[in-house]
Amino acid sequence: MSHTPMMPFKDALIAIEEASACIVGQEPTELNNALNRILAVDIIAEINIPPSDNSAMDGYALSVQDLEEGKPLAISQRIPAGIAPHSLQPKTCARIFTGATIPEGADTVIMQENTEFDQQGRIVFNHTAQKGNNVRLKGQDVKIGQRILTKGTRLQPQHIGMLASLGVYEVTCFKQLKVGVLTTGNELVPVETRILKAGKIYNSNGPMLISLIQKLGHSAHSCLHVNDNIIETENALKSLSEDCDLILSSGGVSVGEEDHVKNAIEKNGSLSLWKVAIKPGKPLVFGDVFDTPFIGLPGNPSSSLVTFHWFARTAICAYSGEVIKHPKKFKVYPNFSRQKTISRDEFLRASLTEENKAVPHPQQSSGALFASCVCDGYLHIPANTSIDLNQRFDFYPFSSF
Ligand code: AMP
Ligand code: MG
Repeated sequence: MSHTPMMPFKDALIAIEEASACIVGQEPTELNNALNRILAVDIIAEINIPPSDNSAMDGYALSVQDLEEGKPLAISQRIPAGIAPHSLQPKTCARIFTGATIPEGADTVIMQENTEFDQQGRIVFNHTAQKGNNVRLKGQDVKIGQRILTKGTRLQPQHIGMLASLGVYEVTCFKQLKVGVLTTGNELVPVETRILKAGKIYNSNGPMLISLIQKLGHSAHSCLHVNDNIIETENALKSLSEDCDLILSSGGVSVGEEDHVKNAIEKNGSLSLWKVAIKPGKPLVFGDVFDTPFIGLPGNPSSSLVTFHWFARTAICAYSGEVIKHPKKFKVYPNFSRQKTISRDEFLRASLTEENKAVPHPQQSSGALFASCVCDGYLHIPANTSIDLNQRFDFYPFSSF
């Protein structure tokens, strides 16, 4: 089994994208609960924004034809924001405030700083202006019928603001994906355990995976931990399959005799792929168990993080109806060279200098998570590629995931 050929990184990613489709229903969602929820419909504007021409300044609204430097105009009405104005009397101006509707007959606003009162309380203008100055035109932001948001968008604060300005207070979203998290290993104790006995370490992947799931807008519905034991593992998988849409596990997917997850999946479901040419990472299980989609990540914390970012995230997006967006990247030069090549795509945890040169952290062990806490992102070295100073590589900031 240890000689199973490794699947190239890109192929694994494509396989996961192709194999995963939306598995959740839809529900109406109030705007105040919509952050990070996945839109299940396109949003088409039913009103113009702004709904009518309005003033961008505190000042005086007039028809630009009536504007002459030094020539006074009487004020015929006062228009604060929030009222419907009368038509402007010819050869007059209207006192107007930011956000207030421009009256019929006016086309321009002169800001108050460029005006003075004369003896009769009329307004004298110190500057000429172009027609349309300081007027925000009806529909200049959004026009009726325009498509504003597309199905599959994960709603961010600016989207929620936009929906509110369109008068949408309830929006159809996909239901949140209920993810079951399974951690494995005799050596692990929950973080709330006070005393760490010899041979034990804290279960760090559990809380990390829960937060990675939450960051994508979903809930870690149920979290279980099992010892390295096939029966316990099968029971936990069975129980998670009963109330979750997807099961995500950490550890137990190598070929050691203490690795039972893979066997439990093979016995009670099917495996789609296993062993991806990625560093850190490599052992990865993607399949289904007890009729529930399943993703098994490696146990080493950095491997768990990297494989979540690339593979679990992709699958979760697809399962939850989100349009899969490839993580944002840019090109950087490395600050080092390396002759030796490896046969896996490598994701070095690296910081960026002010000149955008990538400096890998000295500790790149797959068990070491600290580098990911102090670095800016991943420097991607494709498989079988040597590194030289003059060659640019893709850099993926952690914020892209
Ligand atoms: P495994 O994939 O089970 O062979 O685990 C590989 C390495 O990752 C071992 O050193 C484990 O102790 C460690 N590991 C596995 N699961 C976790 C976890 N939930 N939290 C922290 N470390 C883990
Ligand atoms: Mg283990």
